[in-house]
Amino acid sequence: MRGGSTKRSRRRNKRDRPAPEGREAPSGLEQTRFIADAMLGSLARKLRALGFDTVYYRTGDDSGLLRLASTSGRVVLTSDRALAHKAIAGGAKAIFLTGVNDRQRVRSLVTEAGRSTLPLVSGDSLCSICGGKLETLRKGDVAGMVPQTVEKRHRLFYRCLSCGQTYWRGSHWKKLRYLARLLEET
Ligand SMILES: [Zn+2]
Repeated sequence: MRGGSTKRSRRRNKRDRPAPEGREAPSGLEQTRFIADAMLGSLARKLRALGFDTVYYRTGDDSGLLRLASTSGRVVLTSDRALAHKAIAGGAKAIFLTGVNDRQRVRSLVTEAGRSTLPLVSGDSLCSICGGKLETLRKGDVAGMVPQTVEKRHRLFYRCLSCGQTYWRGSHWKKLRYLARLLEET
């Protein structure tokens, strides 16, 4: 049950809906895309896993971030109140996030998005590392790609089409499920 070209071609043809956490975008509604400031790296990774196309703006100054936000139409996420004000004054959409951990930040995101009537529309789960699209793989397809103990324990796997990172429903899953439920309250 391991390796071989059969598996490879099956893998190529496999385009199941990956979406370990993503929700289908209601038709006609554009998906919400974010740009997160340098303080929000772990939140950016979680938002990608939850199906939000999110740029993590790790380097560069505020003006570069704001420029990118306005040219790409992304909503600025920041825990810097001054930056949020600057973004809004410049015509961009921005959400000022409070909270000291991602759970609190997601709560804050839901509250603030509701207040500013910003729809939170996610798509399929994306690679939390690079934001690439994920393909679904089955047990036999991941031989050699994940530890054997992991392969035995799980039925479905997800691989990033851009960076090749492989995911499965591990211990981080419960945290993500919790955040996904918070988002569904919108
Ligand atoms: Zn990736």
